[in-house]
Amino acid sequence: MLKGKIALVTGSTSGIGLATVEVLANAGCHIVVHGLVEDHIGEQIAHELAEKYNVLSYFSNANMADQNQILEMFSFIEQELGTVDILVNNAGIQHTAPVHEFPKDKWDLILAVNLSSAFHTTQAVLPKMQLKKWGRIVNIASVHGLVGSVNKSAYVAAKHGLVGLTKVTAIENANMGVTVNAICPGWVETPLINQQIQDIADKDGSDLATAKAKLVTAKQPRAEMAAPSQIGELIHFLCSDAAAGITGASLPIDGGWTAQ
Ligand code: NAD
Repeated sequence: MLKGKIALVTGSTSGIGLATVEVLANAGCHIVVHGLVEDHIGEQIAHELAEKYNVLSYFSNANMADQNQILEMFSFIEQELGTVDILVNNAGIQHTAPVHEFPKDKWDLILAVNLSSAFHTTQAVLPKMQLKKWGRIVNIASVHGLVGSVNKSAYVAAKHGLVGLTKVTAIENANMGVTVNAICPGWVETPLINQQIQDIADKDGSDLATAKAKLVTAKQPRAEMAAPSQIGELIHFLCSDAAAGITGASLPIDGGWTAQ
């Protein structure tokens, strides 16, 4: 049923987003690959998706911290493909430090990329989704949209904000054929967490595998990270007709983290 739908997954040159564009292309969606990488890298990913799944695919490296670049990206998408049916707000960054030492520029950047960008993209796609009476918006929040952790003030604030944006957008559009949900992963095996593993290894003088195990088990009862494709498969389900009644939800894939 997703065949021919136009999907934009922000931050899809790596990690969860990259796994998600594979799943959605496999379902027959035309894809906008997006991420902050050089043109030739993003264009290669788009090209491979188009060849492998026989869909149309384009690349954008709009900076999600820049509202004008976001709007330009939508002009480009409409010109090349049409209006977006499936929006996955996934681009995100992390920085860890105690609140009293947290760099102000990092705070502004994390709020811009992890939260405000989702407001701008949502605002860009909603009017067309309302006209078509069909749309799917999936916001990749985090367990940190539901609970806090030390040293992550900007990330936790942004992700709680994203869960709030999800709820309001969902209830405003509940009878428009548009669903809006948040996914709240625990640990997922992607480059985003490499720095946190390295920090533990440096502090403990341990190897990376030991540091990774320590990071995961500190909060998460299930001692394994989720695979990026497992998040992609949940996004696929949320885009299906079977999930038409799920809206405004914040769904953990967190190995039991928030069950405690
Ligand atoms: P990743 O680092 O592998 O990918 C991040 C993507 O965002 C990349 O494509 C990157 O180019 C893009 N990006 C970063 N800054 C950007 C900017 N300013 N403009 C445009 N694009 C930008 O990360 P990931 O782990 O796949 O994370 C994806 C999402 O999942 C994030 O929102 C993250 O907060 C969330 N998440 C990740 C985990 C985890 O354990 N990995 C857990 C919970 C939530």
